[in-house]
Amino acid sequence: MKREKSEALFEKAKKYFPGGVNSPVRAFRSVGGTPLFIERGKGSHIWDADGNEFIDYCGSWGPLILGHANDKVIEAIKKTVEKGSSFGAPTALENDLAELILSNNKFIQKIRFVSSGTEAVMSAIRLARGYTKRNKILKFEGCYHGHSDSLLVKAGSGLVTFGNTSSAGVPESFVNETIVVSLNNEQAVKQAFSEFKDQIACIIIEPIPANNGLLIQRKEYLQFLREICTENKTLLIFDEVINGFRIGFTGAAGYYNIQPDIITYGKIIGGGLPVGMYGASAEIMSHISPEGDVYQAGTLSGNPVAMAAGIAQLTECLKPNFYEELERKTQFLIKNIFSSLKSQVSNLKIFSIGSIFYVAFTDKEVLRSAEEIDADSMKYFRVLHKELLERGVYLGPSGYEVGFVCEAHTESDLIKTAKAFAEALEIAIK
Ligand SMILES: *Cc1c(COP(=O)(O)O)cnc(C)c1O
Repeated sequence: MKREKSEALFEKAKKYFPGGVNSPVRAFRSVGGTPLFIERGKGSHIWDADGNEFIDYCGSWGPLILGHANDKVIEAIKKTVEKGSSFGAPTALENDLAELILSNNKFIQKIRFVSSGTEAVMSAIRLARGYTKRNKILKFEGCYHGHSDSLLVKAGSGLVTFGNTSSAGVPESFVNETIVVSLNNEQAVKQAFSEFKDQIACIIIEPIPANNGLLIQRKEYLQFLREICTENKTLLIFDEVINGFRIGFTGAAGYYNIQPDIITYGKIIGGGLPVGMYGASAEIMSHISPEGDVYQAGTLSGNPVAMAAGIAQLTECLKPNFYEELERKTQFLIKNIFSSLKSQVSNLKIFSIGSIFYVAFTDKEVLRSAEEIDADSMKYFRVLHKELLERGVYLGPSGYEVGFVCEAHTESDLIKTAKAFAEALEIAIK
């Protein structure tokens, strides 16, 4: 596989950007080697600067549920941008995307558009604090919520701890407002509520944690969180930035039929352009400015071009059997990977939900908390990733990341992928 052009571009990028990238995981640090510079994409395929072609399962880390350069999305973007790219004044397109979402989602009544998942979560946390007039928040080890200060916090050593910062530059005083506990541990949450009675503004969780492996939670556990929040007048935030519109139009709230107090979205909602959103009941949302006293704003919020891309993409997601078909393809891929393997790979598991899949090297039958992922097993993923690239299959460059099947993946893509996987796995395991 030729890499000269990507290598030269990376050398140049290192002069301009820390580590040569504008978002850390892109630097390929956890798999080694040079990041591939992507030149174009169409459907399920991408091409790098050296002309290598790949079947893509990263999908820009989730947003591209229809695949790359979808005709309807591109058409909508072109038609809109010709009329101007931003006004800083309301446009009808914001109403149209809001109507499309709200008329198909009974879990939220009013929303606000922002420009990224991080911004959506940061705003939702401020809303929860403003609404409850409390300062502390509770999060889970192994859930990612973007890079705002309050959330760059990892667990300490006890059952219930204030976290340690997971980034320099986050003041200790901020960290002392964030309680971090393990997923799937009811006792830890109960203890947090007894230690910090009437102080916890919200619990925030990825209801389908998919940023640190795929840690599918028990429905009873999510219901327990709902109940303990209600009892303590604490708000429950579902951070659905990655799984919203991915495992169904109403995401995890719909999948589990659990009513959170605030939901955040991002990724798929913008059709590949930068959009985030948070939503709640009309009553909770009435606390946002200019109606209420929780301030939140954005120069490019509700950007018309991004709204148009979102409308085009979500319209496709609403078509009958859209999600069933994605799930069917995902199961087809997984089944074919296992049936293509020549030898038994005993510690290989592929966990999945809807069109999200996660390749893990573990003996465990299920993974529910971050501690259950074996850091040592990443050595297999490094080899798997490299061998898959050689065979024309692109996965996100980290063994903690999930893969996504999109509408554009064809049966032939999936069969080729399964064959490449089987070959790569036999090398990785050896
Ligand atoms: C990706 C993600 C974020 C952050 O979104 P950005 O658009 O990268 O800022 C937040 N929460 C979850 C669950 C995510 O998957």
